Amino acid sequence: MITLETELTKLGRIGAAVGKKLKKLGVLTVEDLLFYFPFRYDDFSKIYKISELQSGITANIVGQIELIQNKRSPRRRMNITEALVRDESDTIKIVWFNQPFIARVLKVGDFVSLSGKIEEDYSGFSMISPNYEKTSPPPPLLIRRGVPSENEARRGTLVHTQGLVPNYHLTGNLTHKQIRYLIKQTISTANNIIDWLPQEIKKENNLLDLPDAITKIHFPKDQEDIAKARERLAFDELFLLQLRSQITRRNVLQYVSTTIKFKEKETKQFVDNLPFKLTNAQKKAAWEILKDLEKNKPMSRLLEGDVGSGKTVVAAIAMLNVALNGYQAVLMAPTEILAKQHYESIKNLFSRFDIKIGLITSSDKRLSRNVERTIQNEKEKINSKFIINNSQIIIGTHALIQENIKFKNLSLAIIDEQHRFGVEQRKTLLVGTGHCPVPTSPHLLSMTATPIPRSLALALYGDLDVSIINEMPAGRKKIHTQIVPENKREAAYQFIREQIKNGRQIFVICPLIDISDKLGVKSVKEEFEKLDKLIFPEIKMGMLHGKLKSAEKEEIMKEFGENKIKILVSTSVVEVGVDVPNAAIMMIEGADRFGLAQLHQFRGRVGRSEHQSYCFLFTDNRAENTMKRLQALTNCYDGFQLAKIDLKFRGPGEVYGTAQAGFPELKIASLFDYELMKKAQANAIKLIEKDSTLNSWPNLKEKINETNNLFHLE
Ligand code: ADP
Ligand code: MG
Repeated sequence: MITLETELTKLGRIGAAVGKKLKKLGVLTVEDLLFYFPFRYDDFSKIYKISELQSGITANIVGQIELIQNKRSPRRRMNITEALVRDESDTIKIVWFNQPFIARVLKVGDFVSLSGKIEEDYSGFSMISPNYEKTSPPPPLLIRRGVPSENEARRGTLVHTQGLVPNYHLTGNLTHKQIRYLIKQTISTANNIIDWLPQEIKKENNLLDLPDAITKIHFPKDQEDIAKARERLAFDELFLLQLRSQITRRNVLQYVSTTIKFKEKETKQFVDNLPFKLTNAQKKAAWEILKDLEKNKPMSRLLEGDVGSGKTVVAAIAMLNVALNGYQAVLMAPTEILAKQHYESIKNLFSRFDIKIGLITSSDKRLSRNVERTIQNEKEKINSKFIINNSQIIIGTHALIQENIKFKNLSLAIIDEQHRFGVEQRKTLLVGTGHCPVPTSPHLLSMTATPIPRSLALALYGDLDVSIINEMPAGRKKIHTQIVPENKREAAYQFIREQIKNGRQIFVICPLIDISDKLGVKSVKEEFEKLDKLIFPEIKMGMLHGKLKSAEKEEIMKEFGENKIKILVSTSVVEVGVDVPNAAIMMIEGADRFGLAQLHQFRGRVGRSEHQSYCFLFTDNRAENTMKRLQALTNCYDGFQLAKIDLKFRGPGEVYGTAQAGFPELKIASLFDYELMKKAQANAIKLIEKDSTLNSWPNLKEKINETNNLFHLE
C-alpha cells in the first residue's frame, strides 16, 4: 500500500527511474512529492473542435487516429511521426519529432486527447509535438462543452492534455509527464496528510483543508481551485514564519534583563556637548530605546535610518546610559574598518566621561584611556578576556560572537549594519552562547540602513519593535550625482584638484582589487597606479582593499581621517558605515557593477557635513537597463525608493543578499505579499495569546518543533 512515507523509488518502474532524479531536488517520499508544487498551469480546459483551430494557438482536441506512420526526414537525419486525427468537425495532421515509439503506442482507431501548438504551412494546419493521452470514445456532449464539472469527471483519467495542466520545475531529463504520472498514482494519500492548522484559523480566514489544498494544487478543476489552494499553502508558509517570530519574542520575554536607569543629567550633558543638534527623529528613537532599557524585559528593537541619518550617536546614548549604570554594552560592526572607526569615535564622544572602551577584532585588541598606555608595555596581556573584564563598552566584529566570550555583566548588545549579519547570528547573540547565566538576556538593538519594504520587514524582523529615523540632520546639501561620460573624465579630474585645494577629500571606488583581464573592469591597484603617477602626482593618495593587512588598513584609514591622504582609492570595503565628513567627492568606476542600494551606500560616504558634495558615476556599459538604473540614482536620494527601483530590476536575493540576510525559503508564498504576511502575523499573535504553549494544537506544535531548531517549546 502506498503511504505518505513510501519512497518514490519503490513505486514501480517509473518510480524507480524518476525517483532517482527527483532525489536531486530533495524529493524522496510520496509526501515530498505532494509538496512539490507546480509553478504554472497550461490551460487546456476548453476542448476545441478541429474546425475551430487557428494558427498560433495552443489547444486541446479529442479525436480518432485515422493514420499514423514514421518517416525519416530526408535532409536532417530526423525521425518524424505523422498522424491524421479526425473529430466530428474535421481532420488535422499531427507531427512529432524523434519519438518513433509513439507510432507503436498509438494505433489507427484509437481515441486520443492531444494538446499542443497549432502551426500553419502550405499544406494547412498541423499540431506540433503535442502531449497525448489515449481516451475512450467520449460522449459527444462532453466534448462539446468542456465545462469544469465535466472536466472534473475526467480528472483521474486525463492528466496531461486536458483541464488545467500543471507545470513543475524540472531537472535533468525529468519530464512533466513523469511527475504528473507519479502524482496521479499517489494523490489519494493526500487525504492522510495531517492538517496542522488550527480549525479556528481555517474557519476565520476561509482557508481550505490541507488535503484538499494539496489535491487542488495538482489537479485544479478551475482557476478558483488554484487560487484557493495557493492561498492556503502560502498562508501556511507565512503563518509558520510569523509564529516562529512570535515564539522568539515570547521566549525573549521569559528572560529577565537588567534595568537601566535613565541618567538624565549625564545624558543631557552628553547631548549638549555634541558638535550638532540632534534631529527630532534621533531624539525620538533614543527615547524609545531608553524607555525599553528601563524595563526588566529584554528590548528587541530595530533602528532603521537611511545612510547618514546619524544612528551611531543614538546608539552611543544608549551605551552611555548602560555604562553609567555600571553594566557592559557591546557594539558589533560587520567590518574591522568600521569597528575601529566606531572605537575611535565613541572614544571621542565619551572623552568627558570615565568610561573604558575596548576593541576586539580578530587581529586587534585594545583598551581605551589610562589602561591603554599600561597595556602597551605588556602586550601579551591584551587578550579578549582582559578587555572584557576591564571595559564597559566593547566594540568589535563578528569575532565577538565567534570567540564565545563570557562577558562580565553584558546588558546591551548593539548590532550595526544588521543586514550584514545573518538573522541566526542575531539570535545567537540574543539568547547568548553562554554569555549570561539564564534566565538573563541582554537588551538587543539592531541598526540598519537597508530600506526594506514593509512585508520584508515583517518577514525578517517580525519579532522586533522598530524605531525609524526618517529625517536627515539639518544643513545637509543634496549630493550632486551624475553619470560622467568618458570625454568628461579630464574635467572631473580637474574638478577634483580644485576641491582638494579647497581642503576636501575624495573617494575613488573600483569593483576589483587586482588587475583583471576581464573586459577591462577597473581594479584598485591599477587605478591607484594610474592616478598616483600620471594624474595626481602632486597629491597624497592611499589605497584600501580587503587583502591588506589589518594594520595597513588602519594606518590608511587613520591618515584619511586626519586629512593627510587626500584621495582614497578603495574597493567596496568602505561601502558601509565609514564616516569621514570632510570627504566631498565619491567617484565610482564601473558603477554598473554595483546594485543601486550599494551605490546609495557609497554615495552616503560623502555629504556628511555642510560641504557641498558630489557623486560621479563612471561606466563603459551603456546598455539601456544599466543606464536606467544609474539614472535612478541621479534623480533619487531616498534609499527606500532606490531599493524599490532596484527590486524591479533585480530580485530580492540580489538586492539584499538572500543567504546572509537570512531570507526564509518560501516555495509558494511571496515575500512581497504584505496583506497575507500581515494576516499571518495577526493570526500568529492571536494564537500565541490564547495559548503560548501551543498545547491546545498538538499537530501545530509538532509542525513548529519539526522546523524550529533554535527554540524548542516545552
Ligand atoms: P549612519 O546613520 O549612516 O550610521 P552616522 O551615525 O555615521 O550615520 O552619522 C553620519 C554623520 O552625521 C556623522 O559624521 C555624525 O557625526 C553626523 N551627525 C549625526 N547626527 C547629526 C545631527 N543631528 N546633525 C548633524 N550631524 C550629525
Ligand atoms: Mg552607521
